[in-house]
Amino acid sequence: MPLPQLGSVTVSATAAVETPPVALPKTSECEQLLKIRHSMSHVLAMAVQKLFPKAQVTIGPWTETGFYYDFDNPEPFTEADLKAIQKEMGKIIGRRLPLERLVVTRAEAEQKIKAQNEPYKLEILAGLQEPITLYTLGEQWWDLCAGPHVANTSELNAKAFELESVAGAYWRGDETKPQLQRIYGTAWQTPEQLAEYKHRKAEALRRDHRRLGSDLNLFSIEDEAGAGLVFWHPRGARMRLLIEDFWREAHFAAGYELLYTPHVADISLWQTSGHLDFYRESMFGPMKVDEREYQLKPMNCPFHVLTYANTLHSYRELPIRWAELGTVYRYERPGVMHGLMRVRGFTQDDAHVFCLPEQIGDEILQVLDLTEKILSSFDFRNYEINLSTRPEKSIGDDAVWELATNGLIEALDRKGWSYKIDAGGGAFYGPKIDLKIEDAIGRMWQCSTIQLDFNLPERFDLHYVAADGSRQRPIMIHRAIFGSLERFFGIMTENYAGDFPFWLAAEQIRLLPVTDEVRPYAESVLSQLKQAGIRASIDQSGDRLGKMIRNGEQMKIPVLAVIGFKEVELNALSLRSRREGDLGSVAVDELLVAAISANRDRQAGLGLSRPAS
Ligand SMILES: [Zn+2]
Ligand SMILES: [Zn+2]
Repeated sequence: MPLPQLGSVTVSATAAVETPPVALPKTSECEQLLKIRHSMSHVLAMAVQKLFPKAQVTIGPWTETGFYYDFDNPEPFTEADLKAIQKEMGKIIGRRLPLERLVVTRAEAEQKIKAQNEPYKLEILAGLQEPITLYTLGEQWWDLCAGPHVANTSELNAKAFELESVAGAYWRGDETKPQLQRIYGTAWQTPEQLAEYKHRKAEALRRDHRRLGSDLNLFSIEDEAGAGLVFWHPRGARMRLLIEDFWREAHFAAGYELLYTPHVADISLWQTSGHLDFYRESMFGPMKVDEREYQLKPMNCPFHVLTYANTLHSYRELPIRWAELGTVYRYERPGVMHGLMRVRGFTQDDAHVFCLPEQIGDEILQVLDLTEKILSSFDFRNYEINLSTRPEKSIGDDAVWELATNGLIEALDRKGWSYKIDAGGGAFYGPKIDLKIEDAIGRMWQCSTIQLDFNLPERFDLHYVAADGSRQRPIMIHRAIFGSLERFFGIMTENYAGDFPFWLAAEQIRLLPVTDEVRPYAESVLSQLKQAGIRASIDQSGDRLGKMIRNGEQMKIPVLAVIGFKEVELNALSLRSRREGDLGSVAVDELLVAAISANRDRQAGLGLSRPAS
C-alpha cells in the first residue's frame, strides 16, 4: 500500500540547513550550469587548437564544478600556456559565437573528421549510435557531441571561469593507450560564484586533514604496513579516547549497554548472515585456522545478533540497545584510499536496537536525539536528511514495511527535522534514514545511518516471548552516528581546521618558562594541572620566548601560559588563548577552576574574560 508522502518533499517548521550567501550548485543540480560547463569545454578545445595547431582533440565532459578536455599534444602544456589558453577562451566568448546542433550521417561525419586528421574523433565516431550529432562553435570549429549547450557564447561569462590545472590522463583511461593531457577548468554564472568557489577551494586545501594530521602529529598511514590502515599517534590517540569516552557516556545515559565482540569468526557465520553472497567484494579473503575457515569482520551486526540469540528474551526486556566501537576491515581497491576518509580498517560506532514493532517510532526518535546531542558537541548543527523507502526488489511483507516506514516518518516529524524522501532508495531488507552534516565551508558529509532490518532476524531465527507466550520476531535497527570514527575524525579535523576546542585538544595548556630559574615553579603548576585532569606540558626546549610561542601556535595549542619572575611572585600565569585572545595575568587557582569546568562541560574555550585595559 503506497504511503501518501512518497515521492514528495515534506518540509517541517524548522529549516535545518541554512542557505549560504553565494550558492554553488553542482552541475547535476543546475541545467544552465550544465550547458555552460559543457560549452566551456568546447571553447577550451577551440582555443587550444588555435594556439597549438598540432593538438588533437579527444573528449571534454563537464565535472560537478566545471569541465575538462583531454588533448594529445607533442609538448606538455605549461602554466604560461594555460594563461594564454584562458585569454584566448575569453576572446572566443567575446565574439558571441553561436553553437549549433547538426544531425549528420555517419559518412558525412567520417569525411569531416578525416579532412581534419583527428584519429581520436574517428575512434569515438565508431562507437556512436545514430543519430550522430555535432555542435559547431562559430564557423570553423565543431565537435562530435550530444549536447546540450548554450545557444551562443554570449551566455558564457568571461569573468566567471578559470583554467585550474593540467594533468596526465590515458586515452580511454587505459594505460596501454597514448598518454594525453587533461586541462581542468571551472565555470560559473557570475564572478561572485567564481570568487566563492576559489575561496572554498583554498579553504579546503588549508584544512586538508592529511596535512594537518602530519603537521599536528595526530596519525599516519605507513606504507610498510599497507594502504588504508591507520596509525594513531599519541596526540591523535588521546583525542580519539576523549571522543570515545564522551560517546560511551552519552550511550549509557541513553539506555545503551556496550558489547565487545571478536574481530574474526567462522566463515559459516557470514554464510548465515548473507554477507558472503552480497558483500563478498568488500571483504578481506578468509584465513584457515585448525581446518576451519575464519573471516575478518566487515561488519559487527552478526556478532550482536549472536549475542541476542544467546538468551531467550521476554517482550518486557525490549527495547534492547547494544553498542560497540567495533573495528572492521573492508576491501577497497588500490588507489582509492584517501587519508582517514577512505580506509581498509576502521572503527564503527555501531549499535543495534531490538524492539517491538510498536516501539519503532519512539526508538528512532531516541536515536535522532542522541545523534543530535553527539554531532552538535563537535559543532555540527546543520543536517541534510534523507529517508529511503522500499525498493522494488525487497523482502518482508507490506504491513511490516508500512509500519516501519511510518515509524521513521513519525520520528522525523516529532523531531521537527525536514527531510527528503528517496522513494524506492532503501535497502532490500528495510527503510533507512541517512544524515549528512554540513561543515564550516559548506561541504556536506554523509555520517549517520539508521537502518531497519527485516532480514537478519529471519536469517538467524531471532525471537522474543510475547505477552501471550508465543514466540515473535523482534524488529532490528542498525545505527551508527559517526559512521566511521576515523572518517569522522578527518571530517572534524577539517571542520576545525586543526583548531580543536579546549575540551578535545590533546595538549590543552603549554607552560612557557622564560628562564631556567622559573622552572621549579612551572613544574609545580604542571603537577597541579595534571592532578586536575588537565592535559598540560612544559616547553623544555630552552628556546627564547618568541620561538616557544611560535611553536605553540604552530601546534595550535589552545592555551599558552608564559611564566616569568612576575608570574612566580603572583602565583599566576600570563595566558594567551587561541580562541579568547590575550587573557593577561590569571591566578593558578582561577585557571584550574576554569579549565576543570571547560573539560566537564566540553567547552571550546576557558570562558575567562580579557583584562580591562
Ligand atoms: Zn559538447
Ligand atoms: Zn548492523
